[in-house]
Amino acid sequence: MADNVRDGVAEALDALAEMPLADIHLHLDGSISPAIARHLMELGGMTVELGDDELAEHLSVREGCSDLNEYLEKFDFPAHLLESPQQIADCVYLVQEELRELGLIYAELRFAPQRHLAAGLTQREVVEAALEGLRRSELESRLILCMMRGPETHEANLETIRMARDFLGDGVAAVDLAGAEALFPTADYLDLFGEAQRLDVPFTVHAGEAAGPESVRDALSTGTARIGHGVRSIEDPSLVDLLVELGTTLEMCPTSNLNTSVFTHYEEIPLRVLMDAGVRVTINSDNMAVSRTNVRREFEHMCRHQGLTPDELRGLVLNALDVAFIDDATRARLRAQI
Ligand SMILES: [Zn+2]
Repeated sequence: MADNVRDGVAEALDALAEMPLADIHLHLDGSISPAIARHLMELGGMTVELGDDELAEHLSVREGCSDLNEYLEKFDFPAHLLESPQQIADCVYLVQEELRELGLIYAELRFAPQRHLAAGLTQREVVEAALEGLRRSELESRLILCMMRGPETHEANLETIRMARDFLGDGVAAVDLAGAEALFPTADYLDLFGEAQRLDVPFTVHAGEAAGPESVRDALSTGTARIGHGVRSIEDPSLVDLLVELGTTLEMCPTSNLNTSVFTHYEEIPLRVLMDAGVRVTINSDNMAVSRTNVRREFEHMCRHQGLTPDELRGLVLNALDVAFIDDATRARLRAQI
């Protein structure tokens, strides 16, 4: 590495160390640390005989994880840890506290209420529990309720939209569509976003991760202002132009894309290319436990491998706040801290 490049990276990392951050794409169930898992298991009456390293193996992907489908298997264990109101509330609160310690000033935590009904809770009870946890922390945060791709999720997804509407402004900020994108195409779920629009529920959409540009185009047809990942837009230059024209924001999550084999190295993440093309991008963690990361580490990786300047780092954090699902007064207050 040339001296001037090394100096640039050091300067960016120094600036980053002091910088307040935001994470607008973070899955609650993918962000359960071994310490939190231990607490949730105890709450569930499970005996915990595993050490932190063994717990981490249950919560994180192995190196060489092949694709999004294998990655998603890592969410089966956390689903069992989030079945009672107290487990759900404590998990939300404890993850928020970890984020606060990391120096975040804002976070949007997302999860799918329909994945936490095994012990008999309704989606409403799940959301109420999550909000109880959310209110305990001083971290400015919102919940995004995920709808799920899958063979028989339609009714549950409609229920999720109704829950988002009922709790909108009380801590719930939006809905999302998550799950196996290559198996269940975005096109099959577009009517859900029509329903969200009808009820004035804001939304974001996972697209352009396991599936390609056509999935992003389908997501854009909903009128969404934000796309989860969207990185495979890079395969279609006219789509990149469209993202610029529409002002769409991509919620990028670099390590997650390596885990699911969308890219092989941090150098290949199209952050710099998309920024230079004029696309509004943000850096996020996606799943802190599954991907063994956090948003600060994601920024560090991008400093090292994409040559970001301190001003560009600030710009990326401001991008996240600019598209956050918050009111303008909160936005102005948070922006003033960057
Ligand atoms: Zn995600």
